[in-house]
Amino acid sequence: MGLDLGPFILDMGVIDDPLYSVVMPVFCEGANLQGIVREVSQSLDKAGVRHQLVLVDDGSPDETWAVIKDLAKENAAVCAVRLSRNFGKELALCAGMETAAGDAVIVMDADGQHPPALLPAMIDSWRTSGAEIVEGIKTHRGKETIFNKVTAATFYLIWNKLSGFELRGASDFKLLSRRAVKAYLAMQDRNVFFRGMTAWIGFKRAHVPFEVAARSGGRSGWSVFRLIKLALNGIT
Ligand code: UDP
Ligand code: MG
Repeated sequence: MGLDLGPFILDMGVIDDPLYSVVMPVFCEGANLQGIVREVSQSLDKAGVRHQLVLVDDGSPDETWAVIKDLAKENAAVCAVRLSRNFGKELALCAGMETAAGDAVIVMDADGQHPPALLPAMIDSWRTSGAEIVEGIKTHRGKETIFNKVTAATFYLIWNKLSGFELRGASDFKLLSRRAVKAYLAMQDRNVFFRGMTAWIGFKRAHVPFEVAARSGGRSGWSVFRLIKLALNGIT
């Protein structure tokens, strides 16, 4: 067995031209995905950065995988990953982060609710702030039912009291440095809660505000039961 020298690396200096991986968990997003991926590519081109897009099909029963394969054929920056079944967004994110090669990994939803236009600001914030994590903070939660608002507020209150971490306004739209990704994946959890666990690993963080856009099509993949399961996973 070879010796893993990773833990002995003291410093890697400043990376001149970092590679950015954008990881998107995808469940039944179908044809809308093409438009989103185009917007993400354009936004990264505008930022003038080297990038790859890791699209993780989370066991979608519809045409999503065919769309992802076509995107990978057209665009060499697209890396297509397909899970053997629907594991849920949190584990699809883990698979994406494990696949991502970037010096920084940006995690975002594939339904247009996390605005691709924010990517240059996120990247800029990472480069200038010295933070290991740049978080998209929701200034406005978008269109939601009263039920969703009340249950989310209740969950965040309980989570805050139990864990001591404030998650109000937090989102899953985040940039993680390679160091933060390593720390996240080192936990090797199967019951993951991305938002809470990225808070738990610590590190200096910076914030970029954004407004949650409407879904570009399709519908949310979260049922009430899946949300309860996520909340219980998060708390336990
Ligand atoms: N998603 C996933 N697996 C699932 C459910 C959702 O990968 O089982 C993806 C989905 O395609 C989207 C992101 O996770 O990219 C957020 O899902 P959704 O929009 O349904 O959640 P909401 O915005 O309602 O929180
Ligand atoms: Mg959504």
